[in-house]
Amino acid sequence: MKAPDFSYYEAETLSDAIKFKSQDDEAIILAGGQSLLPALNMRLSSPSCLIDISKLKDLNDIRLEDNSIYIGALATHTQVMESSIIIEKFPSLVSILKMVAHAAIRNKGTHGGSISYGDPAAELPAFAVAMNAEIIVSGLNGNRSIAAEDFYLGLFETDIKSDEILIGINYPLVKNNEKIVFEEICRRHGDYAMAGLIAKVKTYQSTIEKLKLVFFATGDRPNVTSKTSEIVVNNGYEYSVIKKSLSSEIDFAGDLNSSEEMKLHLATILISKILKKLEN
Ligand SMILES: Cc1cc2nc3c(=O)[nH]c(=O)nc-3n(C[C@H](O)[C@H](O)[C@H](O)COP(=O)(O)OP(=O)(O)OC[C@H]3O[C@@H](n4cnc5c(N)ncnc54)[C@H](O)[C@@H]3O)c2cc1C
Repeated sequence: MKAPDFSYYEAETLSDAIKFKSQDDEAIILAGGQSLLPALNMRLSSPSCLIDISKLKDLNDIRLEDNSIYIGALATHTQVMESSIIIEKFPSLVSILKMVAHAAIRNKGTHGGSISYGDPAAELPAFAVAMNAEIIVSGLNGNRSIAAEDFYLGLFETDIKSDEILIGINYPLVKNNEKIVFEEICRRHGDYAMAGLIAKVKTYQSTIEKLKLVFFATGDRPNVTSKTSEIVVNNGYEYSVIKKSLSSEIDFAGDLNSSEEMKLHLATILISKILKKLEN
């Protein structure tokens, strides 16, 4: 299939892009195009205009700040993976990005694109939620920062307003007694996961003191399961107990790869895999 007709605007400045977007509700942002262009070609989206921000300067910074790491929206997955700051401070993000698609897609696809698209099967939205990241958007009234957990409102739905563009993400640094552990189950390397889990774990003398579990490819957004985390911390892992708890916390949605029941089973298994990783 071919994409429907649309007009094209190459933004030269961020304020131009914001102004243009605020004037046309049907116009959408084009960053790396790795999700948007297939969606257009499959006629899953029919915008009036693509506002191309890919050539905007200063939106692909990756920098270490006092207590956080800032990743600019236009940093590609490859730039993030190859950044010395990320390799040193966030090795878990490098491992996660290795599972995102293939090199050709990672060379074009952007960090901000993945966060703004809000694909429930994508790794980065779940990572942002697990890390308690702040998502920074810019609009007609200036910049606004949104907690990642409040940013995802539903299936491909985020809190970005019609005049706003995502400009960067601020990730708090991982403390010495914290770890990020990641597991996903997919049919082939580079495929979207059938189910995935990112856990932020706080330990004290090698016991788990605090656990944040964020699942992806399970429901309509990154799923945080606080009740199940508490059960794991207090009582350890028991397949049937965890499965029951997850089924009450996540509204599982099946897809082409796996049914709701399969996803519930995989999510339950993923917790045991995370716990095994922590033992090693
Ligand atoms: C074959 C294939 C396999 C893939 N596998 C995976 C995978 O396993 N895991 C995974 O996570 N991803 C996967 N992806 C998606 C890939 O990671 C994309 O790069 C990413 O999701 C979107 O980034 P982009 O820069 O290409 O965004 P685009 O495609 O340009 O845009 C995507 C959406 O986000 C909006 N948008 C983009 N940037 C902004 C911004 N700064 N502000 C506001 N809105 C914005 C656009 O309007 C559009 O709606 C895959 C893609 C393909 C084609």
